Amino acid sequence: MPQFELPTSPWMDEELEMLADSCRQFYARECAPHYEQWEADGAVSRDMWLKAGEMGLLGAEVPEEYDGLGGSFAHDAVIAYQGNLAGIDGWGGGLHNSIVIPYVIHYGSEEQKRAILPRMVSGELIGAIAMTEPGAGSDLQGIRTTAVMDGNRYLINGSKTFITNGAMANMVIVAAKTDPQAGARGISLFLIETDGLDGFRRGQNLDKLGMKSNDTSELFFEDVRVPASALLGQEEGCGFAQMMEQLPQERLLIGVYAVARIERAIRETLAYVTERQAFGKTIAEFQNTQFVLAECATEATVAKTFLDACITEHLEGRLTTERASMAKYWLTDLQARIIDRCLQLFGGYGVMAEYPIERMYRDNRIERIYAGTNEIMKIVIARGLLRD
Ligand SMILES: Cc1cc2nc3c(=O)[nH]c(=O)nc-3n(C[C@H](O)[C@H](O)[C@H](O)COP(=O)(O)OP(=O)(O)OC[C@H]3O[C@@H](n4cnc5c(N)ncnc54)[C@H](O)[C@@H]3O)c2cc1C
Repeated sequence: MPQFELPTSPWMDEELEMLADSCRQFYARECAPHYEQWEADGAVSRDMWLKAGEMGLLGAEVPEEYDGLGGSFAHDAVIAYQGNLAGIDGWGGGLHNSIVIPYVIHYGSEEQKRAILPRMVSGELIGAIAMTEPGAGSDLQGIRTTAVMDGNRYLINGSKTFITNGAMANMVIVAAKTDPQAGARGISLFLIETDGLDGFRRGQNLDKLGMKSNDTSELFFEDVRVPASALLGQEEGCGFAQMMEQLPQERLLIGVYAVARIERAIRETLAYVTERQAFGKTIAEFQNTQFVLAECATEATVAKTFLDACITEHLEGRLTTERASMAKYWLTDLQARIIDRCLQLFGGYGVMAEYPIERMYRDNRIERIYAGTNEIMKIVIARGLLRD
């Protein structure tokens, strides 16, 4: 059977190759056989999180003193890439590893790091980040959840929606207004452990298009009391700036997902078109099929090259917010176009659930929306262009 493989990333080394290999084995052994069940359940199993922890697939960026690997985003990129290449798109490990944990590493107090990081590395704590509210998605400054000092505690009230890992997470970063009059400077982030927390409630696991095995929930906070030490950072009002600093890595992660899924879509399509026959030949023998695949493979190669350049910049601490936004917007747009073109080559079977391209088509749709919509990405890029 013909093979398709995108070029190896220049930032890979022997250790990362070994990690990629363990990931491939882990996803094939521990995830693929259960994936249909997780899709039906609306979440991956807690047991899978614990096994991922045992395998070293959680908290690779966490320093060794807090039980992590002491690695970098390169480790997380390998773990996320291999998961998406294997079709394990619904596992929220990428968000846990590359989005939630870095907030604790960068802004957490020593006490928070010691209390939280080892348990995020083992999978005992599952991370989520709760920014979005029913009335505030793209416009995060409009959030209405409040955190008010009450003695030596904060009293948190408000509701969040569309929270990834929301049904299972027990370690949630919550964005709240500590000073509702101060705009962006009035937003603070809180590290909140939710097990047994009075006043905290989850809504339904939301039914959505695609990514069925990724739990997405509403979260409600009614007079939730947390200690003053739950504040992330030295002082109130730093939350918006912290989110802006961390968003480039979040956007890059979505770019990693996109390229891995493109590679998978082309692989699945090659396998199909070389088997399926029409008019006495395989679908692969039609010139149209060959041209479509040639175009997709070329665009995929360009995409991986750009992604690798952005990852290298990020590892060297020079990825700008504009470049990260370009990666998120362009790679997810390309992912949608390529998966759509690949599905067309499956004919009617492309929309049948028994073929992987059907799920890829559904799973891919959200990528242009979350982590900042692609329209917001263009606003960020344009702002950079027009800056004096
Ligand atoms: C499955 C899923 C998982 C998610 N996970 C999380 C999570 O873990 N944590 C979290 O906090 N959030 C999460 N989100 C929320 C996600 O980040 C938001 O849905 C997204 O930011 C868009 O916000 P919105 O849905 O309120 O859309 P809106 O902000 O209402 O936007 C609607 C439309 O208007 C456009 N628009 C808005 N403002 C402008 C503008 N200024 N100029 C031009 N166009 C504009 C948008 O691009 C979009 O097309 C998730 C969402 C989904 C669906």
